Amino acid sequence: MILFTPNLILKLDYLMVNLLKSLFYWLIKGCLKIPNDFCPSCGSHSLRKNGTIHNGKPKNECKKCGRQFVINNTKKTVTQAQTDLIDKLLLERISLRGIARVVGVSWRWLQNYVNHKLAQVSRKIKVSDKPRGRLTIECDELWSFVNSKGNEYWVWLAIDRKTREIERGSAPNLVRHAQVSFVGCYIGDRSRKSAQKLWESLPPVYRQYAVAYTDFWESYKTVIPDSRHRPVPKSSGQTNHIERI
Ligand SMILES: [Zn+2]
Repeated sequence: MILFTPNLILKLDYLMVNLLKSLFYWLIKGCLKIPNDFCPSCGSHSLRKNGTIHNGKPKNECKKCGRQFVINNTKKTVTQAQTDLIDKLLLERISLRGIARVVGVSWRWLQNYVNHKLAQVSRKIKVSDKPRGRLTIECDELWSFVNSKGNEYWVWLAIDRKTREIERGSAPNLVRHAQVSFVGCYIGDRSRKSAQKLWESLPPVYRQYAVAYTDFWESYKTVIPDSRHRPVPKSSGQTNHIERI
């Protein structure tokens, strides 16, 4: 037997009110044909379908302002607290894959974030004081992966052979290294595009004058000028310094 206590009656009352509200809204919406979806920029309900995004969710385009968006987008934004934590962790002896896992950001996002950070880092090497024509760099790409082997990435590095000793023995931390001894760094895949990004990360004087020793990976050939590119086997010893990192 159900006892209709005042408390239960109140709850039922609340439920009924909500049910009636929903019903009323549904009827009004049906009569006025109000569409559910609206543009997050201008609030217009005048939308058209515009294909799908990478995960198959339908994409919409606002007819009024042209904004393209996904309805009920579940994409999470990285908070300021998370980026603060990442900044701290980047200064410790923690791998990037560890940081991505702990902070709960995607590897792709962290990769872009670190590249962006590295681009902003002012390099302490006084590149303008170098005697031109005597610059020698060693480039290498190091393979690593996050979580599973399918999730691999490559860290592209360039060091100046003469200034390599500045930070010898310090924490193997990408950002710290970039500040003191690396002259170029990029994280991505192993494609030509990544080689290009490594090249672009070098200070201009290196791009203009440095002789670059690399392995035989073909991507280097497409970005380093022939006259200054020295592809060498590991056994030559010419890329010893960077390979010891
Ligand atoms: Zn709009």
